[in-house]
Amino acid sequence: MQTATRHVDRMRRASSAAGADDLAAIVVAPSPDLAYLAGYDPPPLERPTLLVLRPDQDPSLLVPALERPLAIDAGLGDIVELVPWRDDTDPYATAVGLLPASGRVGLSDRIWGIQVLRLQAAAPALSWASASGVLSRLRARKDPDELDALRRAGAAADATFEDIRGLPFAGRTEVEVAEDLRRLLLHHGHDVADFAIVGSGPNGASPHHDPTERVIQAGDPVVLDFGGSLDGYFSDTTRTVAVGEAPPGFEEIFALVHEAQVRAVDAVRPGVPIQEIDRVARGVIDEGGFGERFVHRTGHGIGREVHEPPNAVEGDETPLEPGMTFSIEPGIYLEGRFGARIEDIVAVTEDGVERLNRTTRELTTVA
Ligand code: ZN
Ligand code: ZN
Ligand code: ZN
Repeated sequence: MQTATRHVDRMRRASSAAGADDLAAIVVAPSPDLAYLAGYDPPPLERPTLLVLRPDQDPSLLVPALERPLAIDAGLGDIVELVPWRDDTDPYATAVGLLPASGRVGLSDRIWGIQVLRLQAAAPALSWASASGVLSRLRARKDPDELDALRRAGAAADATFEDIRGLPFAGRTEVEVAEDLRRLLLHHGHDVADFAIVGSGPNGASPHHDPTERVIQAGDPVVLDFGGSLDGYFSDTTRTVAVGEAPPGFEEIFALVHEAQVRAVDAVRPGVPIQEIDRVARGVIDEGGFGERFVHRTGHGIGREVHEPPNAVEGDETPLEPGMTFSIEPGIYLEGRFGARIEDIVAVTEDGVERLNRTTRELTTVA
C-alpha cells in the first residue's frame, strides 16, 4: 500500500472505531500513535500539535504555524485539513472549533498534562476519556509492511548475538560489552541502538540492570538484553550466556527458564487470551519452585514502541489475533548470585506462531 493511502486508511479505521467506542472524537498528540496514524513525527514540544479524528468527518491537524512547512513536507497537506495557529493566538480556542459540541473525547496516552488541562478548560461541556483502547487495538495487529520491518529488526538483533558470542567476555567490563552490542546493532542495520543490558554474575539478578564497570569473570552467567529500531520498528531479544563453566545451581534455573520459554511460544495461536501465555510460562517456573523469583510479566507487545499493549500478564484477556507481535521472556533472578532470561519476539500467524528471533535458546558458552 502507498504511504499516503495507508495513513488515510488508518485514520479512517480509528475514526470508525472511535464511534463504536462511544467517542465523539479522538485527539492525538505527537507520539508513536501520531506516527502510526498520520506518518507525522514532530518534536513533542509544549506548543500543541493535535490530530483530531471524528467519526464520519475528515481528519484535522492543529499545528503551530511555524511547523506547518514541516507537516507539509511530511505529506500531511494531502491527507488532513491543516489548521495552523500563531504564537500570538490561543491554540485551545482554535482546538475547540475542531471538537464536537458535546460527548466524550478520547485522548492519546501521550499528551502534555498542561495541554489536557487547557483543553478541558476551553471545552467544559465535553467529557474526557482515554483513547488507548481504540488506538492500541489498531496498532496491535501489524500489517504486512510492519511485520516485514519487525522481521528485519529481529534478524539484525540475531546477527548481533551471533557476533557478540564470538567476542571475548572474561576480563572486559559490562560497559565494554554493551558498547559492542550497540555497535553491532547499528552495523547489522538498526537506525538506533536503543538499549543494551549486560548483567554479569550477580548483576544478572536485576532484570533492567544498567551496565557497569564490573569486570566479567570466568564462571559468570551473563544476561544480554538488547535491541533498537529499524524503519521505526523495534527489536528486543535476550540471551543468557555462560563464561566458561557456569556456577553451581545455574543450570537448574536456566533449564526451567528454557522450558518455560519454549512451552509459552508453543502455546501461541489465534484465539488464545494473551494472559494464557503468561500462565504457561509461570506454571513451569512455579512448578520448579522459583515462582517468587520470576518477578515480571512474561512479555509485552512490540512495534513502534519497544513496550506497547497487549501484555502477556495475568488479567490481560486480549485474544491473540494474526499479526500481533509480542515478547516471550520468562526469567529467574537470584539476588546476590545470578539471573537467567530468554526472550524472543513472536508474531501470531493464521494458525500458530512465527518466531522473529531464531538464535539458539540452548545455553551458549563464551570465552
Ligand atoms: Zn524489560
Ligand atoms: Zn528485552
Ligand atoms: Zn522485552
